Parts: sequence; structure tokens; C-alpha cells
Amino acid sequence: TVLVLGSANADLVVAVERRPAGGETVLGGDTVVMPGGKGANTAVAAGKLGARVALLGAVGEDGYGSVLRTSLESAGVRTDLLRTSARPTGIAYITVTPDGENSIVVAPGANSDVSPADVDASSAALRSAAVLVCSLETPLSTVEHAVAVAARAGVRPLLNLSPVAQLSSETLAQLDPLVVNEHEAAWLLGEPTAEVNGAEDGAEVDGAEVDGADLARRLLALGPRSVVVTLGARGAVVATPQGVHQIAAPTVHAVDTTGAGDAFAGALATRLGEGDDLVPAAEYAARVAAISVTRSGAQPSYPTAEEVDG
Ligand code: ADP
Repeated sequence: TVLVLGSANADLVVAVERRPAGGETVLGGDTVVMPGGKGANTAVAAGKLGARVALLGAVGEDGYGSVLRTSLESAGVRTDLLRTSARPTGIAYITVTPDGENSIVVAPGANSDVSPADVDASSAALRSAAVLVCSLETPLSTVEHAVAVAARAGVRPLLNLSPVAQLSSETLAQLDPLVVNEHEAAWLLGEPTAEVNGAEDGAEVDGAEVDGADLARRLLALGPRSVVVTLGARGAVVATPQGVHQIAAPTVHAVDTTGAGDAFAGALATRLGEGDDLVPAAEYAARVAAISVTRSGAQPSYPTAEEVDG
């Protein structure tokens, strides 16, 4: 079983001709409501691939919470560990201009309310999972507690360090793997770039194409048991004490890379949960993420196992 600890958000998307300045009102198109949040996306990616998966998190007692529960359940994700909070469901308010650029305000709401006590209340499910997958749209203290419980129980903890945060050395030492994109990698290594969060594919660090193998090797030296650095259209690099492996990305026509990192994490966890080694699991994850970028949206773009194999 895969246990995902993470966020569930409703993405409210509206197309606008231009973004309003302070004090200004502009009219937009019709609101499109999309299920999102890194935790829910990761869980749906795993569910669609056929994993036995549950999401540990929280939504509000409102219509968006129901939308999220329904989308999770229709992807085969168990929601019995998804608590209903007194705070509103997390919402991302997204405006999109004709040039395709997004402006996003995230109201974390119920996601901020996921606590170490929630982890303890789900400890039987956590301790019987094969893999724990976390990301950081839920509180860092909760994630660090879950990683510690997982590690003590022999559950493999995977952390997608997004959005980036400073981890304790104890947490870092348990991760197997730490998963980061190249901007998050640079930030962890003390080389912050302007685009740490929401960075685009193929972006460069300090104007030069980064050496993913070098990043992965240096991250491994910070203490995690293994590292995966995702590199957008350039694939990924896996680093373990046994060595460094390049993972090629299939060449595809990308139309929307939203949620590609979450697809990668969900697929990676699915395969690790089935007992694959990290390198073949990452090769599979790259195939899954490549399919996801050829379709629009996050969760609706994720493939089933049949689509990946076919
Ligand atoms: P994030 O979305 O978290 O910033 P990346 O941009 O590195 O992460 O994308 C995650 C993974 O998705 C990559 O490692 C790669 O496997 C896949 N991917 C992303 N963009 C493309 C692309 N244009 N073509 C093929 N695969 C892609």
C-alpha cells in the first residue's frame, strides 16, 4: 500500500485578458473548478496506475471538499484518512492570461490543519504501508513526524520537497528518496534561484544548463539514503550510494506540464511499493510523467497502467 500525506486543493481557474492592478476590477471567463493540491494529485496518479493508495490529509466541510473526495474516490484512492476540518478546503485562485502565464494565490485552509496528531490517529495504516509519500503543502512538523514514524516501522519514506523548506538532518537522513526539481535542488544546496516555486521546465540555474548528476551527488552528500532530481524535458537523475543513473525522458509534445512532478512522485511510489528498485521505478515514473504533459490539467492528464504499457 502507498500512503500519501499531503494537500488537497480546489483549483479555481479563470481566464482574463490581463491581471488587475490594485483597486481594479477586470472581468474574466467562466470559473473552472479542478481538483488539485500536490497530495491529492500524487494519490490520484498512484490510484490510476492501480496502486492501493490512501490520502492522509484534510478538507473543509464545504462543496469543494466533496468535489475532492469524489475525484479521489473515482481514481481508486481511499479517503477514510481524509479528515473533515473546521477550516475551509484549500483553494488555489488561478488567473491565466492569453500568453499562458498563471498568477496564483493559495489559501491552504484545511491543509494547514493536518497535524502530528492526525498522523498518530492513522498510525496503523501508516505502519502497514510499504511506502509513505509526502510533499510540503501540509505543515513541515507533521511531515517530519510522519517520516520518523514510517522510518521506525520500516516503511519507505519518499519526500517531494515542494514547496522547498529546510528539513532537519534527522528527517533528511531517513528519506529514500528525496525527490526535488532542479530549482529545489539548488535551493537546498544554498544556490537559490529566482524561480524556486512554480519554476518552468527547461529553466536554467544562473544562465547555464545545470548538471543534474552533480546536483544529485551533492544532495546525496547532505544525508538522504537516495536522491531523485527531476529535470523537466531532460528526464531525471537518480543518486544512491551505489552510483548515479541518468533517466531519459521520452520525447513528447508537451501541452501542459501542470502536475508533472506529482505524477512522477505518484508513479515512483507505486513502483517502489511493488518492490521495484529505485532506478527502474524512476524509469517508469518518467514514462508516466511524459504522458501527463501531453494532456491538459493535472489529475485528468494522468494515465492508467494500461496506457503506460500500451
Ligand atoms: P516539477 O513539475 O516538479 O517542476 P519537472 O519539471 O522536473 O518537475 O517534471 C517532472 C518530471 O516530468 C520530469 O522528471 C520528467 O520525467 C517529466 N517531464 C516534465 N516535462 C516534460 C517534457 N516536456 N517532456 C517529457 N517529460 C517531461
